[in-house]
Amino acid sequence: MDLSIVGSGYVGLVTGACFADVGHNVTCVDNDPRKIDMLRAGKVPIYEPGLEEVIHRNVSAHRLRFTGSIQEGVDNSEVIFIAVPTPQSAQGDVDLSFIEKVAREIAGVLSDYRVIVDKSTVPVKTGEKVAESIKRYNKRGAEFDVVSNPEFLREGCAVGDLMKPDRIVIGAQSERAIALMKKIYEPFMAPILVTDINSAELIKHAANSFLALKISYINAVSAICDASGADVEKVADGIGMDHRIGRTFLNAGIGYGGSCFPKDIAAFIHISEQLGVPFQLLKEVQRINATQKERFLKAIRDTLWVLREKKIAVWGLTFKPNTDDIRSSVAIDLIADMLREGAQVSVYDPKGMDKAREVKPIADARFVSSALDAVEGAEALVIATEWDEFANVDLAVVKEKMTTPIIFDGRNLFDPQTMAQLGFHYHSIGRAPVVPR
Ligand code: NAD
Repeated sequence: MDLSIVGSGYVGLVTGACFADVGHNVTCVDNDPRKIDMLRAGKVPIYEPGLEEVIHRNVSAHRLRFTGSIQEGVDNSEVIFIAVPTPQSAQGDVDLSFIEKVAREIAGVLSDYRVIVDKSTVPVKTGEKVAESIKRYNKRGAEFDVVSNPEFLREGCAVGDLMKPDRIVIGAQSERAIALMKKIYEPFMAPILVTDINSAELIKHAANSFLALKISYINAVSAICDASGADVEKVADGIGMDHRIGRTFLNAGIGYGGSCFPKDIAAFIHISEQLGVPFQLLKEVQRINATQKERFLKAIRDTLWVLREKKIAVWGLTFKPNTDDIRSSVAIDLIADMLREGAQVSVYDPKGMDKAREVKPIADARFVSSALDAVEGAEALVIATEWDEFANVDLAVVKEKMTTPIIFDGRNLFDPQTMAQLGFHYHSIGRAPVVPR
């Protein structure tokens, strides 16, 4: 089928590449000319494992192309996906101006029947607004249907998630649109759930909020473990072995970040309030998440006493491993907090360095080129992202390079007893701190 995707970011580019890989002809549209130039030159503007290969394969097969022109996208496709940002506004609700603009632009060039699919994460009832908007600006009166098809991919394994999704949600009201959507997704052989548009939109916010709730739940349990001497990893194993609960998303840490959870939970709270049914539970999820970072910082201060002039190494900038995405990363907030308190911070991340260098609140950090360079002369090491590279490091060398071997592990990468044997003061989350034996 002939498809186009408007917005070639983490979602749009991966979606476009994977659609092409199963045999569709895909036009990826973006209004950032630098991105389009890079893609046309064979360069991929984001890091996502396996993506570059899929893009190159499909560009060579002439199934994937890139353009800055929305007209080209609309003319060349039966179905147009929208995958533009839906950030949080200053008022806490969702800034839907990107979606509205694309809807208007599509309407302006619509001349034949098209299905317009919202893949961006939006509040319930946005589909109605998109349809109204397209109708208003659709001067030639072309027929169209609006569909909601929320995306559930995870950065870091987005290609795999796209190719083998747990489910595909199609929110639509026209049989014609549903048939086209099913045809697009047929090659993926995944379960398809067809709903009305409002339900599809709500599924995305409700799913992300539930996952965030699971993280905050185990983080709240980790605080009780810290206070009681229990081990949160064991507790999570014991809870997670119950198949009704499951072990995933029960990893205690310094809280969730990233471009989705914080804004999606805020959006769900906001829309629930607008609808007159405030979702108070989610406010607690947010509060626990914020507390988790503060508890971690307190443990650092309690041990180091004063942060001013302390040499602190930080491993990790991205909000999770296997991505270069640093949007709303807790690691960045932590570094900014420590810099504000006068610490001298050296940072290293396998993929997040280029993007992080542009972030003003951490401009005074020293960006170094390896995990071992970061710990040279350090009085403490903070682990903020759980990259495999950090889990596999030679800890004996780390210890040798540090001035004082103190580690604050915000992602529970290591076994406390082993760390004590190796001679580290080791603090983690929800597990009793250990001192050198
Ligand atoms: P992104 O910022 O990586 O990409 C968005 C792209 O849209 C950018 O390349 C931008 O230049 C382009 N764009 C903006 N306005 C445009 C316009 N008028 N015309 C053409 N292109 C335009 O964002 P993302 O992470 O891909 O997220 C997109 C949406 O998908 C958001 O609603 C997000 O919540 C949702 N989502 C994201 C993820 C994720 O893990 N990143 C997962 C599921 C859903």
